[in-house]
Amino acid sequence: MNDNKIPYKIYLSEDEIPKQWYNVRADMKNKPAPLLNPATLKPMTAEELGAVFCDELIKQELDDNTKWIDIPDDILSFYKMYRPSPLVRAYCLEEKLKTPAKIYYKFEGNNTSGSHKLNSAIAQAYYAKKQGLKGVTTETGAGQWGTALSMACAYLGLDCLVYMVKVSYEQKPFRREVMRTYGATVTPSPSDTTEVGRKILAEFPGTTGSLGCAISEAVEAEATREGYKYVLGSVLNQVLLHQTIIGLETHTALKKYDIKPDIIIGCAGGGSNLGGLISPFMGEKLRGEADYRIIAVEPASCPSFTRGKFAYDFCDTGKICPLAKMYTLGSQFIPSPNHAGGLRFHGMSPILSQLYHDGLMEAVAVEQTSVFEAATTFARVEGILPAPESSHAIRVAIDEALKCKETGEEKTIVFGLTGTGYFDMVAYQKYNDGAMSDYIPTDAEIEKGFAGLPAQP
Ligand SMILES: *Cc1c(COP(=O)(O)O)cnc(C)c1O
Repeated sequence: MNDNKIPYKIYLSEDEIPKQWYNVRADMKNKPAPLLNPATLKPMTAEELGAVFCDELIKQELDDNTKWIDIPDDILSFYKMYRPSPLVRAYCLEEKLKTPAKIYYKFEGNNTSGSHKLNSAIAQAYYAKKQGLKGVTTETGAGQWGTALSMACAYLGLDCLVYMVKVSYEQKPFRREVMRTYGATVTPSPSDTTEVGRKILAEFPGTTGSLGCAISEAVEAEATREGYKYVLGSVLNQVLLHQTIIGLETHTALKKYDIKPDIIIGCAGGGSNLGGLISPFMGEKLRGEADYRIIAVEPASCPSFTRGKFAYDFCDTGKICPLAKMYTLGSQFIPSPNHAGGLRFHGMSPILSQLYHDGLMEAVAVEQTSVFEAATTFARVEGILPAPESSHAIRVAIDEALKCKETGEEKTIVFGLTGTGYFDMVAYQKYNDGAMSDYIPTDAEIEKGFAGLPAQP
């Protein structure tokens, strides 16, 4: 163990924290397709987006060409409260697996929100504050994004209205209370506080909600309130941009010890952590400077990359948001009720979708019992109790390390450990009780989702 000079945890010093975000779109030959106005099917203009989003964030959303974007000082100061995050050599996991592979993970769970989402929450809240707004509205599924945004808003003195998917609101009361402790107003979605919520409730009485539905409600809540804008925790180009802090720190840390990764792995929900982690490496790949295997891991019960269509689709159930071109299962797709592992959004980041379409990265879908098995193995040897979402990446990192054991190859594997799982103990309980099952949607179910896709421009 500890056979070379590489420390257990590679920390950067404060002044090694990146001062700019990296915009991978600048290096992409095939740019991600623009967001379209669902009524006109024309690209959304900055002015149209201004009805929903903050001005500076719209600039970032539409900017396909500026390679480096300065991180404002106030955001850097906030980052310093919990960054840099460690890049950890998983010596104990390697030993447990008896693999010649070298495994590293970038751990983003060292803050109260328990995930990487704070990296973009603080940026989005900062630009809202700078624009003189009173507050922001958003949705949250499992609760990590809502928590991160509540923390950022509390820090900056902004009001924060969160629509939380009803099933999570009820099953994760502690998440909800963390948000309220940070001053947010949390409403279970669908609710009767918005027109779209009332419509969905009338159409599907007893529904436990979905992310797409909560997005519709949060957007309506923004549109009907003076001084508020809507913010989103994943999928959008701007969110991937903010999350590049993860990849840039990882890149610097690896360089510091002259480590060259062979495989980079991340879980993919809407694609923000994965996009952030891989961006600097993808940039090298796009510029022909280096090559890496890059693997997105998604749940077999919500397989947007591996079984979805690359098409324009709505980001929300209520069909009030712009159309995004992405790998999608259809905006009406809802994972089966036994799905406990998060990553349940029907679509995928347009940037990652384009990169995947162009063959620059791979994707695998894994079943949830095997994800929790990997989570448990990891927790027992590495100490950290991983979020179910993050554990998708652990699963494939372990699988790749086991392949190395067979072939004797000493590959270097880096994966993103996006967060901790303390609020997911109901899911862990199910696994521990042997009561967790897997569900893979049938082709007919997937086709049903596609039937809801809008006419393609
Ligand atoms: C939200 C979340 C994810 C998935 O979101 P992405 O936008 O795909 O990164 C993964 N892990 C954790 C811990 C999360 O909170």
